[in-house]
Amino acid sequence: MAGLPAPDVVLNLISCTCRRTCRPSDCSCILNGLECTVVCKLQGCSNMVQDDAIVAQDANDSS
Ligand SMILES: [Zn+2]
Ligand SMILES: [Zn+2]
Repeated sequence: MAGLPAPDVVLNLISCTCRRTCRPSDCSCILNGLECTVVCKLQGCSNMVQDDAIVAQDANDSS
């Protein structure tokens, strides 16, 4: 049984590159049944998890 690679790690690293709106036919997140995260290009889309636990953790420029 030569199974598929199926690296489940990728599931946590999926990020779409939507520019304006995340559409089920275009958004890689939605296509994979995932919710958008902070790593997505489009921030604040309707597919994003609206939870206070997930706050943008940027503004930490370490240089
Ligand atoms: Zn998207
Ligand atoms: Zn996304």
